[in-house]
Amino acid sequence: MELAEFIEDLHCEDELIPISALQHYVYCPRQCALINIEQIWEENLYTLRGRRAHERLELPEGITREGVRVEYALPLWSARLGLVGRADVVEFFQDVPYPVEHKVGPRRARHADEVQLCAQALCLEEMLGVEVPKGALFYRASRRRREVIFAPALRAEVERVVYEVRGLLRCGKLPPPVADARCRNCSLVDSCLPFVPQALTAIAQGGRDDQTAS
Ligand code: SF4
Repeated sequence: MELAEFIEDLHCEDELIPISALQHYVYCPRQCALINIEQIWEENLYTLRGRRAHERLELPEGITREGVRVEYALPLWSARLGLVGRADVVEFFQDVPYPVEHKVGPRRARHADEVQLCAQALCLEEMLGVEVPKGALFYRASRRRREVIFAPALRAEVERVVYEVRGLLRCGKLPPPVADARCRNCSLVDSCLPFVPQALTAIAQGGRDDQTAS
């Protein structure tokens, strides 16, 4: 089935979840909601570098390198999970796909990256009818690949995250901020204001303490 047919077959486009939303959700549910519900997107150093890296990767045709077919910016979808997206790179070893996702962000997003990569594998399995046992994350800063095995636990996690993201998008409410070290590298920090609720609570608490003391 082609992508256009798949989208036509859906009862409602709202059923579709971008694969990237899973990565955002695992990193921070509020980030996922700000991007996918509030449509807020801010550039920071990581997102700019990421966009440039992805633009360089978007070559029109696949190539064959040392006997391995390589496809760039390959459209992906899953009717079963209601996912749609693109793979940065898919290498084909004797027709077995091996997705490679390029990352410029901090390594603390590593698990979120694994969920995103495994979601790509589940799409490839459904689209091509072959098992995709593993893939790799390529970190541009270190220029190293880290192989990821798509074990049953990771596959189950992808399905759970899809379910939770769908629930989040349907309810349309912003989750509370995580307000931790993740916020330092988040491009949405100025829109999100993650530490404001804590500051307001501290001010309110201070006021109550003053009243008790007087
Ligand atoms: S600033 Fe922090 S709480 Fe807000 S979206 Fe980013 S990571 Fe999440």
